[in-house]
Amino acid sequence: MPFKIQHLQWLGGILAAAACLALGGMSLRSNLADHERYRHGGEQLARYNAVLVAANAVSAERGPANSAMGGADGDRAALAAALAAKRADTDRKIAGVEALFAGERAAAAEVQHLQAELHLRLGQGRAAVDAVISTPPGQRVGNDVAFAIEMMFAAADAAIALRDQLGRAVVADTPQIAAHVVLNNVAGRMREDAGRLGSYVVMLLTSDGSLRERFEANIAETQTRLQDMRRFLGGFAGALFKGGEVDAVVGTVNQVYFGEALPYARAVASLQPAAAPDAATFTRAYVPGMRPVENLRELIAERSQTTIDQLRDQASRFVLASLLLTLVVIIALAVIGIAFRDGLFLPLITARQQIIAIAHGDLTGPPVMAHVSAEVRGMFEGLDLLRAQQRRRVELEEEQRRLTEQLRHLSRTDMLTGLLNRRAVNELALDSLASADAEARAVGVLLFDIDHFKAINDSQGHAAGDAVLAAIGRHLAPELDATAPFARYGGEEFIVLLTDTTDALAMALAERLRRALSRLSVPGAPRMVVTASFGVAVRLPDADQTWEQLVATADQRLYRAKRSGRNRTCGPDTPALAVPADTAMTLRAASGGG
Ligand code: GH3
Ligand code: MG
Ligand code: MG
Repeated sequence: MPFKIQHLQWLGGILAAAACLALGGMSLRSNLADHERYRHGGEQLARYNAVLVAANAVSAERGPANSAMGGADGDRAALAAALAAKRADTDRKIAGVEALFAGERAAAAEVQHLQAELHLRLGQGRAAVDAVISTPPGQRVGNDVAFAIEMMFAAADAAIALRDQLGRAVVADTPQIAAHVVLNNVAGRMREDAGRLGSYVVMLLTSDGSLRERFEANIAETQTRLQDMRRFLGGFAGALFKGGEVDAVVGTVNQVYFGEALPYARAVASLQPAAAPDAATFTRAYVPGMRPVENLRELIAERSQTTIDQLRDQASRFVLASLLLTLVVIIALAVIGIAFRDGLFLPLITARQQIIAIAHGDLTGPPVMAHVSAEVRGMFEGLDLLRAQQRRRVELEEEQRRLTEQLRHLSRTDMLTGLLNRRAVNELALDSLASADAEARAVGVLLFDIDHFKAINDSQGHAAGDAVLAAIGRHLAPELDATAPFARYGGEEFIVLLTDTTDALAMALAERLRRALSRLSVPGAPRMVVTASFGVAVRLPDADQTWEQLVATADQRLYRAKRSGRNRTCGPDTPALAVPADTAMTLRAASGGG
């Protein structure tokens, strides 16, 4: 089979569509996977954030607890109410986390254990706090408050342990959010340590002095950790979230917490017990300074969530874009394929058919093709032009044929009588003689000459003579068989060629013509009588006689007829036929004698 561009085009189109489908599929798959990863990551981050909030709530409970334990008698009811509200809030948050991580709790014994530990430690811490609170301030001994606070630290540590365990589970499940988990973890840890530092100061303020050095060491150690975390968060949070708002909040943390609250706590810790404020006063002054630390933690949590959500949304846009682009390319390929087929290949086939039709002479205008390109239209216009030219050529050929035929007719026709001329009859005779020999036919010739024609010319003019000659042609032609060539042989001499005859038939025909001539009515001269003298010659098959010789024989007999008195026929064995006397006289009278 010969090579076809259209097949190549279809093959290329199908390959391109397949490649595009494969590419689109791969892109779609990858984007769908991204979308699923970030969607899941976002959910995981939200869960982890809930854990952070719950862990922070356990730490934050120490604020109102410290205030309640260190407060003056007058505020006790209000402080107790604040503590109760805070505890209820913590319990709600822990319950929320337990619901969120029900799956992990069921799956991992470690989580179950840590959770039980948290409940135990929190219960113990709260019991210790309540024991202090229920003891009137005057009866509180030594390190009761510090002991209760340390119990609450143990609860906070249990919360932190659970938080870290769940954080690890989240990172293991969704590693791409590890950086966010770590940052959130550190931010939570900073909030925790800021609170813990305040608590150590409270412990210092409420203890009997025996543990002072230990608390001072705890304060120094916590402060070092806080400074480390400040550097870490300031650097990495700014880098991960591209500065801006995070840097601003880090700035506030530096100014408000590290610039004011922390130095205040250190200053209080360094005062002698007598000069120091009571625990509630310190807490009231210190706790608001931790607010920016909490804000930073919340901001990092929120930004983490938005970042992951944005990545998820971007992935879903890519999913849509991959789908649309694949679709667009495939539609474009299909449209191009169809356009090439309908706009180029089908027209090419049609053009080929039309060219073949033109070559075979079919010049009818084909139906106009709809919706073809400018190039293809140009091709068909070219074909239209070709057809128009071919039509013109055919017309010219027709005209030429007609003219040639006319010319041939004219060259064989005598203009005056409309009969054949001498040349035409000579040509026909040559053919006729040849075929007559082949078919064993006898050929005959009748030659006749108008009698006293000069007299007609002389008496009535040359034009009248012409009219007589034309009338003879018109009048005698119907007497003859249509196949018998009848010609004006020259001047006022006529000839009839008989292609299949005998002497008798030829003589009879000559006589019939001669008699018919007597009935001739010339227009404009109705009374004119015209006669002619006839010579008849017949050539038998294979006779050694040319056409010229045959005509010469007929001519001799014609002159015999003239000499014998005119208006008669002379044949092979008819010396002469009598002329009716009246006819000869009439003729002479009409022609003016001669
Ligand atoms: P005959 O009976 O012996 O044939 O006498 P005739 O007068 O017919 O013969 P002749 O040969 O003496 O004269 C023939 C005349 O025919 C001479 C010529 O002027 C005339 N003629 C020849 N051709 C034409 C023609 O085309 N038109 C006319 N009007 N006359 C012609
Ligand atoms: Mg003559
Ligand atoms: Mg004559």
